[in-house]
Amino acid sequence: MVNLLIKILGGGGEVGRMAIFVKDTAMDKGFLFDYGVNFDENDRPVMPGHVRPRDIMAVFLSHSHLDHCGALPSLYVTSPPPVYATPLTLELADIMFKDAIKLSGYYLPYEDEEIKAVFDHAIPITYGEDVDLTSDVRAYFLNAGHVPGSMITVLEVNGARVVFTGDFNLAPSNLLRGADLSNIPKDVDVVIMEGTYVMNTHPPREEVEREFIRVIRETVESGGSVLIPVLTIGRAQEILITLYKNGIDYPIIVDGLARIANQVVAKYPHYLADPGLYVKAVESSLEVTADYQRRSLTKEPVIIVSPAGMLKGGAAVYYLKRLGRDRKNAVILTSYQAPNTPGFELLTRGRTFIDKSEVVLEAKLYWFDFSSHSGRAELEAFIRHFNPDTRIFLVHTEAIKAFQFLDRLRDKYGIDNVHVPINDEGILISIKR
Ligand SMILES: [Zn+2]
Ligand SMILES: [Zn+2]
Repeated sequence: MVNLLIKILGGGGEVGRMAIFVKDTAMDKGFLFDYGVNFDENDRPVMPGHVRPRDIMAVFLSHSHLDHCGALPSLYVTSPPPVYATPLTLELADIMFKDAIKLSGYYLPYEDEEIKAVFDHAIPITYGEDVDLTSDVRAYFLNAGHVPGSMITVLEVNGARVVFTGDFNLAPSNLLRGADLSNIPKDVDVVIMEGTYVMNTHPPREEVEREFIRVIRETVESGGSVLIPVLTIGRAQEILITLYKNGIDYPIIVDGLARIANQVVAKYPHYLADPGLYVKAVESSLEVTADYQRRSLTKEPVIIVSPAGMLKGGAAVYYLKRLGRDRKNAVILTSYQAPNTPGFELLTRGRTFIDKSEVVLEAKLYWFDFSSHSGRAELEAFIRHFNPDTRIFLVHTEAIKAFQFLDRLRDKYGIDNVHVPINDEGILISIKR
């Protein structure tokens, strides 16, 4: 008999702030899956629940988005635990930690020294590799299909098997192969999975892409420029490939942190669905690094790809102020827009406040679903993959939607092994061996 304690430190009934602690109660130390942070509307970090570093045998870091890694350096003050992640995740996380400090450093409980300590204790892994932590603990890692370098972890502790998905996507994109369900065993004991889009069905990617390209062509061919705000990691690279693949032959400008992320991803081409295509897409784009370059842009039609994806800061804000006043131009949002962000306000009201001054949008505004998360159909397929006695925990999800999803699972498939935990909840599970 193995008794596993699962402690929800973050991501319980909320999207983001992923942090789950799992421990065999017969052992001294446990395992931490992600340690992410969310930011409130004043850019103040909302930290996950506390865990003592000396109680952690290993951290498994699923990917480099701040809602999964942003609190990690705070654990690297005393008794630092080893952290397992892909080398690409580690390198991208470094960029994100430093950006978090720039954004809200005063409120973050770590500095450059702790960030450095994370990397001093990092253990790079490869997909498919079996890692023995002790004679009774082993883990292996699979492509999660979410962003370059993202991983799903399969952990075995004294014979009990736990799957942690992080953010994952079963569907392929231009950038990545989808996560491969056939590599995940059906007879695991515990699954901890994300459910960002439990009640959303993503439209077919080809349709989204066709319409996206049509809008871009229409805009540049009639003399306008296009601003595409993107997430630094994942979306920036996906958009660049999509533009290149569709033969857009107007200048494509990349600005802000996306430039750096693009170069880091290019060092690890084997994570990508089509490395050759990616390299060509990056090489054919123009990087902006200085203000004089920025100022001289947009006299001719250009396409600008820049963070932040929700227009919360980043170079995209500068371009929004410049391009937003002219109705010839277009702004194309490509990711989820959280309430209270400038992107959300533009979508709902056509105007927003940036740096306390009002921006009224004259340019055309579009939103396209380029999601890198599994939609409802994929989440259902994932859940149905496992044996009926597998205990499934749905996290990184809005509670109301998650409960609607549970009803649907029960009615449609007779599935009742899925639980939506809340933050600070501790669940004890006995597993017969
Ligand atoms: Zn996430
Ligand atoms: Zn993510």
